[in-house]
Amino acid sequence: MEKETESTVLGKMDIKSLTLQELTQELGARGEKSYRARQMYEWMHVRLARSFDEMTVLSKDFREECKKRYLYIVLRAVRIQESKIDGTKKFLFELADGSVVESVWMKYKHGNSVCISSQVGCRMGCRFCASTLDGLERNLTASEMLDQVYAITLLTGERVSNVVVMGTGEPLDNYENLVRFLKMLTDENGLHISQRNITVSTCGLVPQMRRLAEEKLQITLALSLHAPTDEKRRRLMPIANRYSIKELMEACQYYFGLTGRRITLEYSLAAGVNDTEEDAMQLTRLAKPLHCHINLIPVNPVKECHFQRTEALGIRAFQNILEKNEINGTIRREMGKDIDGACGQLRRRHMSALQDIGGNETC
Ligand code: SAH
Repeated sequence: MEKETESTVLGKMDIKSLTLQELTQELGARGEKSYRARQMYEWMHVRLARSFDEMTVLSKDFREECKKRYLYIVLRAVRIQESKIDGTKKFLFELADGSVVESVWMKYKHGNSVCISSQVGCRMGCRFCASTLDGLERNLTASEMLDQVYAITLLTGERVSNVVVMGTGEPLDNYENLVRFLKMLTDENGLHISQRNITVSTCGLVPQMRRLAEEKLQITLALSLHAPTDEKRRRLMPIANRYSIKELMEACQYYFGLTGRRITLEYSLAAGVNDTEEDAMQLTRLAKPLHCHINLIPVNPVKECHFQRTEALGIRAFQNILEKNEINGTIRREMGKDIDGACGQLRRRHMSALQDIGGNETC
């Protein structure tokens, strides 16, 4: 699996995962001037070319040479679902090795937001999550993460202003590729998305949270907390056996201390599991010393997982307790409720359909 995370895939260098500096070195080693690298970088990361052939500013011979030498990652949309309620679109993309990942495009007043996947599958095992049911297949490369944003920009014809890494996968379990992706996505020579408009969500890998703090990026870190005590959290998330809530809170403080960025705590409410008054009070006590914002969301029922959502009134009551204690809590608007809502469900449906019909499903 480690091999897949490197910039060389299938024996060819994955050119779209190279930073401008690396590309300059790579082409320089072949005798090309640095402006060539700039041109190519712009075609890949600003003009969003789908192949070397589109880069007509480069000579034909040079393009042919590049085709032989490099892998040019582009994701192919095999299925697109659109919500009739709010226009949210869910994309299922096929990767070069035939794996599929899903991404979501959401339209808000303040701009368009894309939720991307960071791995094919996931090995974190959260009990309520569809993405983890089949385990981890592999990490995504930086180019595969970037191209989810690029392909969606091209398919919708609209600029993406916000990116959330909250699709399938645990981003901090794919640390190197994630940070490379973040740096390239926000690079002024690329799409130049503002770091402040990017959120990375983690189930709570403490050492990587600390390491990310030290990168001193201006991105928002979201922690999927989902329970206010270790005992309860362990029942929902196996990772809670590895790191305690105390360690998580310390890592959040560390992140805020180094970046000045307020933490987001994600809290999915499941009826009778983590939605009592006592849970709200305990959550309040955890949140108080942190500079944080809490996102409340009803758990999205997944067939295999047996959790029921907390009803709207219950969520409101939970939020009221937070508010009374001066904790910022937002009930997150659910987007695309009518299109395989929960993360990982579209991909799972697609995979089982493939098994049913012998691997020929396309759109
Ligand atoms: N691995 C990362 C990011 C991917 S999941 C993480 O754990 O944060 C994105 C968010 O959706 C997380 O907060 C996750 O806990 C939550 N989530 C996953 N399945 C869910 C479901 N069925 N209902 C509600 N939230 C869910």
